[in-house]
Amino acid sequence: MAENCNHDCSSCAQSCSENQHVKKEPLPTTSIGKIIGVLSGKGGVGKSMVSSLLAVSLAKLGKKVGIMDADITGPSIPRIFGVTGEAYGDEGGIYPLTSSRYGIKIVSVNSMLESEDTPVLWRGPIVSGMVNQFYTDVYWEDLDYLIIDMPPGTSDVALSVLQDIPLDGLVMVTSASKLISMVVSKAIVMALKTNSHIIGLVENMASVKCPDCGRLIDIYPASDTAAIADKYQLEVLAKIPLDTNLSALADSGRIEACDEHYLDELVKKVLDL
Ligand code: ADP
Repeated sequence: MAENCNHDCSSCAQSCSENQHVKKEPLPTTSIGKIIGVLSGKGGVGKSMVSSLLAVSLAKLGKKVGIMDADITGPSIPRIFGVTGEAYGDEGGIYPLTSSRYGIKIVSVNSMLESEDTPVLWRGPIVSGMVNQFYTDVYWEDLDYLIIDMPPGTSDVALSVLQDIPLDGLVMVTSASKLISMVVSKAIVMALKTNSHIIGLVENMASVKCPDCGRLIDIYPASDTAAIADKYQLEVLAKIPLDTNLSALADSGRIEACDEHYLDELVKKVLDL
């Protein structure tokens, strides 16, 4: 039971109306403006892609940005940014790695493993503890925005991020497949139950962009995104097609060279937070 709640918080997804969960604190030398979580119901929908594009868009505007790769079992942020090398720390905390072009600070378990293909075989509470440490024990220093690439789904790890870290807003990534939109709805309900502010929806890979003529071709017969937006009164702030330019940049660690404007509307909302 949390010290200021009158029920067993570990077994429920509710924020207590009178007694909020005690949020974790970063290092005293750290100053973080806004914290944005990027969540989807399932892995592979494009959470890391959206986290990376959002970070790059904000950094291009001169903002100081960090990314916490909280997708501990499927970490991909260092690879997308081409950041190699081992993270190191001292008794006071962990030093983030820094991207080459815009100086985006990155913390990921992948920078702490023997090799990129070493799996993380930890149980939920240990993973949650590590995610919390990425917030409390990292020398983030002075950031305008910390983007959290959230653990996928509605697992206990995702839930503890929502409860333990003082998020200013959440971006929900979905796609047009009925299977994905059904699972994303669960993540939306989880976020609402924890009183998290959802900035809006990003629909990813619902269409494919022809690399020759740029025409968009729908991949699925129909999309549920508008219906989800309607049901939960959310805005669809971006639609990113499956774009071979994006996958090539991400795969080669050059996402900072992306000059697409898919997230312009989302960026405006984030700047207004
Ligand atoms: P998640 O973080 O939700 O597990 P990722 O962002 O890692 O998903 O995306 C899964 C794969 O799809 C990655 O290889 C990524 O580069 C690719 N991808 C994601 N979004 C797009 C897109 N809009 N166009 C092309 N490839 C994409």
